[in-house]
This record gives sequence, C-alpha cells and structure tokens, in this order.
Amino acid sequence: MSASVKLCSRLAVITGGGSGIGRAVCQRFAQEGASVVIADVNEDSANDTLKLLSHNNEDHKHSAFIVDVTSKQSVEQLFSQIQLRYFRPPCISVSAAGITQDEFLIKLEEDAFDKVLQVNLKGTFLVTQTLAKALISSGLSKGSIINIGSIVGKVGNLGQTNYAASKAGVEGLTKTAAKELGRYGIRCNCVLPGFILTPMLEKVPQKVLEKFAGMVPLGRLGQASDVADACVFLASNESQYITGVSLEVTGGLFTG
Ligand code: NAP
Repeated sequence: MSASVKLCSRLAVITGGGSGIGRAVCQRFAQEGASVVIADVNEDSANDTLKLLSHNNEDHKHSAFIVDVTSKQSVEQLFSQIQLRYFRPPCISVSAAGITQDEFLIKLEEDAFDKVLQVNLKGTFLVTQTLAKALISSGLSKGSIINIGSIVGKVGNLGQTNYAASKAGVEGLTKTAAKELGRYGIRCNCVLPGFILTPMLEKVPQKVLEKFAGMVPLGRLGQASDVADACVFLASNESQYITGVSLEVTGGLFTG
C-alpha cells in the first residue's frame, strides 16, 4: 500500500478512540500520517487501539490518554497532557465518545435522559470549546473540529428520545460553532452515521438490524471505516472551504 499524506504532520485527538468508530478514525488518521491522541474513558481499550497503531508508531508519535468527556476538569487535563507531550494543541478533533440508554419515552427515567445528554452533548461541547480556546490562544490559524452526530438526530428513532435529542443538539452546537470560529480559521462539521456495525449496535436486536439493513439503498449496514473515511475528508485540506455542514454516512438510509 502506498503511503498517503493527507494528514501529514497534523496532531489529532479522537474521543471514544478505544472502540468502534473512534478506533477506526484513529487507524485511518494514522495511515494518513497524523499523530493520533486516543482519548477514552476506558483506559484498556484506548491502549488496545494504541497497539493497533504500533506499525505506524516507530517514532512514538501516537499516544493514549484516559478522559471522561462529561467532566470539564477531565477534558482540560487531557488538553494539558497533550500540550506537555506535543508542545502544541491538536489542530483536529473528532468527538466520537458516545453512549445509548434506550427506552420508550413513557418509560424513560430522568437519569437515563441526563446521562446520554451528558456524554453525547455536553461532552462534545466541552471538547469543542476546550480545543477552540487552545487553538485561538496558540495562534494556530487552522483547525478542523469534527463532531459525530447521528442520522437519528434528524429523523428520530423508536426508543431513542434521549439519544436523538442529544444528537440533534450536537448538530446545532456544531453549526453555531462553525459561525463563531470561522474567523479563526477553525472549521466545524458533523458526521451523521446511519447504522454502523460497532459494539454500540450489539444491544440492538438482530431482527431490528436486519430490518434496517433491508431499508438501506446501498444494501448493507455501515462499517466504522465508512465513517472514518468521511472524517479523513473533513479533517484534510480537501474540505478546506467546508464548514457548518452535516455529512450523512448512511448508505442512503433516510436521506432526503
Ligand atoms: P462504541 O463502540 O460504543 O464506542 C464509544 C466509545 O466511547 C467507547 O470506547 C466508550 O467507552 C467511550 N465513552 C463512553 N463514555 C465516555 C466518556 N464519558 N468519556 C470518554 N469516552 C467515553 O460506539 P460507536 O458506535 O463507535 O459510536 C461512536 C460515536 O458514533 C458515538 O457518538 C455514537 O453515538 C455515534 N454513532 C454511532 C452509530 C452506530 O450505528 N454505531 C450511529 C450513529 C452515530 P465504554 O465502552 O467504556 O463505554
């Protein structure tokens, strides 16, 4: 395989980098020459991702850190650790940390609503804000913030009131950040995956997955690498005039 250099000499932080989509993003970014910071609440899985990058890590440019994106203190500590290790802030972030706690609206507990909003929406806010502040104060004139929303935030889904609300919030947050941060050369975009085969989908009954797979115009559920490819595009100069958009990676499901 010939070496590609779409993200050469870029430093990227990926939350949720220990699993699923986040892990695939780490792998694709490393292939494209980026230095990758894997950040996850699960230290073991973050370290497992780091091991997967070992063939691209002869110069130890990748690293793994523990973070709880729901905590401002933890997110700030992550960025301090990155600064200490690399002497600069990342110029790319991908907020892929996320959870589900599915239940029908009339049975949904307040705690399950709050938890999903805390990780998916507040976590994305904290990472977006902390990176924006770091980039602005460092004087770096370019950045790409990529937030992983969901097609469910646009169209809703049975049993996912909390999740759909959190992901609709991620889109609104990202579009607003794009308007505010454009003057600093910082682009902010969302990726909206459809149904992607990751550990998150393991909780969904096989019957339901088969039903959705049958509805996808491209005829299959997505792979984490499909989403990672979209993130490479949004992180790279190939999208340098694109900000404030939501890129659907759904195989055509629910599009239009
Ligand atoms: P995943 O395999 O479950 O990965 C999510 C990762 O985030 C896990 O490593 C998880 O750790 C970590 N995490 C959870 N809470 C965290 C916190 N507070 N701080 C830091 N990290 C935390 O899920 P995925 O499918 O890759 O999902 C990645 C993103 O894509 C999520 O935002 C998800 O909502 C979104 N998405 C997924 C799909 C899909 O079909 N898979 C579709 C649309 C959107 P633990 O495992 O320890 O909890």
